Amino acid sequence: MELLKQRIKEEGFCLPGNILKVDSFLNHQIDPQLSLAMGKEFARLFVDVKVDKVVTVESSGIAIALAVAAELGTKLVFARKHQSALMEEDRYACPITSFTKKETKNVYILKKFLTAGEKVLIIDDFLADGNAALGLCNIVEQGGCEVVGIGIAIEKSFQRGAERIREAGYRLESLARIKSLSDCKIEFVEE
Ligand code: 5GP
Repeated sequence: MELLKQRIKEEGFCLPGNILKVDSFLNHQIDPQLSLAMGKEFARLFVDVKVDKVVTVESSGIAIALAVAAELGTKLVFARKHQSALMEEDRYACPITSFTKKETKNVYILKKFLTAGEKVLIIDDFLADGNAALGLCNIVEQGGCEVVGIGIAIEKSFQRGAERIREAGYRLESLARIKSLSDCKIEFVEE
């Protein structure tokens, strides 16, 4: 998606550990117009599949996933990263190792928000090693739902996530694919 690539080129910079920082439009401050455009693009890419629900994980995936769900006319459910009084109901849980925090914690979805048989599209902001996306697949499948696809805004193709997702048999669509962040130079995969 040219618009997203352009914003990454203009505003993105890298941190040690192969981390791309895009907090001026995606991860802290959010550009609603870009989020809406990403929603439209994901809806176009997944036009051939039936989607009953969009699922993401808090927090950075929510804005994009909301745009996708609005475009598709579905509900959005975001997995929560923290236990609280709000989550004291029957729930599904799955451990996910965070790429940026390097710690493993459960994420949760209340059982009442996943209905067996629903077709689910998973959306997230970044793909690195694939733990978040595959963890979301796991939790959705615990609810008897079918993952019909995974949509990622920024795929870091030099990490193993994309390969793991495809090996597990899921369809993956990414809006921008980064080939390398070596020497803090952002290089895209040629499409
Ligand atoms: P994975 O689970 O695929 O290893 O990492 C994906 C998750 O880690 C995403 O949900 C995202 O929050 C975070 N993440 C991974 N790589 C980056 C990155 O380069 N920049 C930012 N801002 N977040 C990242």
